[in-house]
Amino acid sequence: MPAPLRVLVLGSGGREHALALALARDPQVVAVHVAPGNPGTAEVATNHAVDPLDGAAVSALAVRLGVDLVVVGPEAPLVAGVADAVRVRGIACFGPSAAAAQLEGSKAFAKDVMELAGVPTAASRLCRDADEVAAALDAFGPPYVVKDDGLAAGKGVVVTDDRDAALAHAAGCDRVVVEAYLDGPEVSLFAVTDGTTVRAMQPAQDFKRVGAGDTGPNTGGMGAYTPLPWAPADLVEDVTRRVLEPTVAEMARRGVPFSGLLYAGLALTSSGMRVVEFNARFGDPETQPLLARLETPLGGLLHAAATGRLADEPELVWSDASAVGVVLAAENYPGTPVTGGVLTGLAEAAADGALVVQAGTASGPDDDVVSSGGRVLTVVGTGPDLAAAREVAYAGIARIGLEGSFYRHDIAEEAAR
Ligand code: AMP
Repeated sequence: MPAPLRVLVLGSGGREHALALALARDPQVVAVHVAPGNPGTAEVATNHAVDPLDGAAVSALAVRLGVDLVVVGPEAPLVAGVADAVRVRGIACFGPSAAAAQLEGSKAFAKDVMELAGVPTAASRLCRDADEVAAALDAFGPPYVVKDDGLAAGKGVVVTDDRDAALAHAAGCDRVVVEAYLDGPEVSLFAVTDGTTVRAMQPAQDFKRVGAGDTGPNTGGMGAYTPLPWAPADLVEDVTRRVLEPTVAEMARRGVPFSGLLYAGLALTSSGMRVVEFNARFGDPETQPLLARLETPLGGLLHAAATGRLADEPELVWSDASAVGVVLAAENYPGTPVTGGVLTGLAEAAADGALVVQAGTASGPDDDVVSSGGRVLTVVGTGPDLAAAREVAYAGIARIGLEGSFYRHDIAEEAAR
């Protein structure tokens, strides 16, 4: 039996609750801590009221708790250098350095890495003023894709047929990336890497728009499912060979090795697979259904990646089950959400076999759970196929009460047909 692991997870969303759940079921993991966590993580781990963006406070907590591994959930602590602050104290950290997190933090940096690594992606131009933007828009033609060159929590990208709207979005940005439009379905493929070796996970798909049929404004994600019965059989192998491995190799070559979770957002276009974006952390909500299917113990895997020993690890093992996650959103999301409503039916949903993964939740005054954010929770259903998994997820979410809340009814509907 390998040495026991004590783990600290940073973050408070659904992704972090899913990570805490998966870590808690790894027999090698003897303690799970979360900072700051939510009422869901408190059920499987110990929460600590520490700001995940404060590198000094996080590393002090990690030292005090004697953890062997810190797992960084969200992107903001990575870009703020929290993984570096933890490693300086001699503690292993699953998450890239601030320098390597630029793969997510800067669209221009990511484009440069992709170009040098020969990774297929949309043609693009980095623009510094309105004339350059106008010229780039006309070079690529509609639909126009304009990206703010910085972390914008998914809100920095505008895809539009309206040239004036594209120009207006660009005017609000410092540095702008304009790129060619990619058609075709989007796929999220996550990979665990130690900076040299890459272990790709299973593909998932998320639903970014707030409304049924992919209508309305973009959100952090309204649901996700895995696997993708419609995807090419060699997708994982192809992306590993043409995207993940060359990217990790190029990062090492330029002296900013990337270790942690490399998330490739892909478009399967009519002219082949292209990278839409990289992220430097697990995606939310894809992580919730994905980890429900992972049979490889998560703590040992992430510790091996954080300590450069991924090559010694066996290939990942997945259950044959399908998993569907449906996000319950608060009234008015993705605008300023209504918060403070009491949640009911959490235990009933779980008793019916659904996994309730909490996100924007807080402990209420009467020992109850109240809403505290836009995406309140994700209900995950698993089953032998997507149709069965959907039934469990939707039966579960129907049990949950929160005034004004809503969810999409069409998560994985098409794929389940
Ligand atoms: P990003 O922050 O780069 O992931 O972009 C957010 C979303 O905008 C993506 O998930 C896509 O849905 C869309 N998007 C980004 N780039 C393109 C593109 N070149 N063509 C079409 N859609 C895009």
